[in-house]
Amino acid sequence: MSLALAAAVNCGPDSLGTSRTLTLRREGAAWGAAQHAALPMLAPKEVVLTFDDGPRPESTPLVLKALADHCVQASFYMNGEPLKQHAGLARQVRDAGHTVGMHGYRHEHFPQLPAAAQLADLDAMVAVHRAVLGEEPAAYRFPFLEQTPTLLKALADRAITVMSIDASAEDWLPEQTPQMLADRLLGQLAKSGGGIVLLHDAQDQTARALPLLLRALKTEGYRVVHLRWQ
Ligand SMILES: [Zn+2]
Repeated sequence: MSLALAAAVNCGPDSLGTSRTLTLRREGAAWGAAQHAALPMLAPKEVVLTFDDGPRPESTPLVLKALADHCVQASFYMNGEPLKQHAGLARQVRDAGHTVGMHGYRHEHFPQLPAAAQLADLDAMVAVHRAVLGEEPAAYRFPFLEQTPTLLKALADRAITVMSIDASAEDWLPEQTPQMLADRLLGQLAKSGGGIVLLHDAQDQTARALPLLLRALKTEGYRVVHLRWQ
């Protein structure tokens, strides 16, 4: 029996689960109410879980385990450098059924870089995504959510979807306990009504907190939507 099947067998009514898969067209759209519009295909209390800055061997496997324990499918926005360095782990994420998007080859402040350097970073990011995962990338999240006109146009020209966010646990803040992260995430979701959730699989505190976060989402009646692209 495969690991995925074994996990599915163990997913009972107490697990969060994945309620449905939403498949988007490859087009230069941009979603997430922090900077754009909320995804209009999501119903109230539907969430898309996203994890940035990996893959990282110390924490990403723990995130994968917590998601598998709850039969949850998520999206991982990977940086090019760790994607290249930990290619096997990146393919493990993809092979577990999760969606892999791009998050910049280097985690740069693009508004501070010349246009040529921004475009070179995108080219390097696309190249390593293709090389490691053998697929054409469909989605991109800006590092620090710092957009630039140069990259927005380049992404639209390539029909790559820009993914901003609707809610987060602010898990980049130092020394956050699982309960602090759960309380903050639920507080932000209560305001947004659901949507795209930003987390970081490269953060140890997030990996440790994820079982509690998933239980809290279940208790509060949120439903997970798995985002894919055609
Ligand atoms: Zn990031």
